Amino acid sequence: MSYAPLSLVTVEAYMDLPRKRAITFPAEIERQFEADTNANRCRRLTIGILVSAVLYNFFLIADWLLVPDALRLASWLHFAVVTPWMLIVAWAISRRPRPVVREFLAASVPVLIILQIDAGFAVTTSDSAAHYQYVVIPTILYTNVSLHRLAFRFARIVTAIILLCHTALVLSVSYLPGGVAAMILVQIAICAYITLVANFTMERDLRRAYLYALRDRLRHAEADAAARHDTLTGLANRHHLDEELQKLWAAPNHATSYASIVMLDVDHFKRLNDGYGHGAGDLCLKRIAAILIANLRGTDDCAIRYGGEEFLLLLPGLQLVDAMHVAERIRQAIEDAAIPNEGSSLGGVITASLGVAACHIGELSASELIDAADAALYAAKTKGRNQVWPPLASAEARTGQLLSRSPDNRG
Ligand code: GH3
Ligand code: MG
Ligand code: MG
Repeated sequence: MSYAPLSLVTVEAYMDLPRKRAITFPAEIERQFEADTNANRCRRLTIGILVSAVLYNFFLIADWLLVPDALRLASWLHFAVVTPWMLIVAWAISRRPRPVVREFLAASVPVLIILQIDAGFAVTTSDSAAHYQYVVIPTILYTNVSLHRLAFRFARIVTAIILLCHTALVLSVSYLPGGVAAMILVQIAICAYITLVANFTMERDLRRAYLYALRDRLRHAEADAAARHDTLTGLANRHHLDEELQKLWAAPNHATSYASIVMLDVDHFKRLNDGYGHGAGDLCLKRIAAILIANLRGTDDCAIRYGGEEFLLLLPGLQLVDAMHVAERIRQAIEDAAIPNEGSSLGGVITASLGVAACHIGELSASELIDAADAALYAAKTKGRNQVWPPLASAEARTGQLLSRSPDNRG
């Protein structure tokens, strides 16, 4: 499923809320957060779980020293259950699953580890068993404050599971003196509390920092888009045109491709301003911009506000005759829009003159092509306005091309 791009307004509105949720974002920001951080999180978790798999097996030394009668069971659980599961989880997370699956998988690791620890603790009768429980503390540290710690909403559940499992076991075994049992449970509970607070704080700070970075990124993108667009018509501006031309002329195989440029100038536009006011003039420019957009096809074509009442169309891949069809369609659409301009000698409505030029990209530079289109526009003006220059018939005769024959014909 694809979603609308996240807007700066959404992010700023959320950041302005006096009481926002510290560690969960609204759905659309959360989606962006995941899109931006998932790859890194998966990589970190994968490496973290692989390293943990090695460290975890060193703890068999604790089993050997403290609960030797449970060593067989502990070894079997280590090598047949927990370590293989950690490898499977590392592999599955490296494949970048959905966030909730990723976190479930990661959370399963400390749960299995605590079950393994408590299984050994349940079967042992060793005098040193009381000390063995201290291995619960590194498990809690691993869950809540390691570099690849769990997300808070999972960390608190896993920590609760660890506390419950271990408390139930400590209370059920008969060999622990009451004072020792109470002491270890208190210490584990304090460790759980402190590390959960740290986990929450780290996640909140990480998300806060992300929000600021996201806002800056969106502001930058917005400023960047504004610098490329004309505020009145919403069309791209010359800055954008320069970039597009550079890309087109630098593209591989560009020398064999065609490019066409159409220059459009509104006829007697000054008379519209003089007769109806600048507001009407602005409105007219907006309508012409809408007509241009409506007559372009594909994402390659580009409409630019070139100057006051001058527009430019960049039509990559189009040959002259095809570009002239586009130009003629636009000329007709502007005339059909019947925007009143009583002062004009051309039927009392707004019209436009258009000059078209095309070339193989290797044949002319971008500025030479623009100059050629400009010269054609000048000719359209001097020949009486409200027309496309060169005339279609002459262009067809020149290229010997039938309208319907061109594979690129978009007319
Ligand atoms: P021609 O047919 O020879 O092109 O005549 P014209 O009147 O269209 O050309 P001229 O260059 O004499 O006048 C263009 C006018 O366009 C002058 C300028 O005030 C007006 N203009 C330029 N930019 C804007 C704009 O953003 N809004 C409005 N309303 N007018 C603008
Ligand atoms: Mg002009
Ligand atoms: Mg004009």
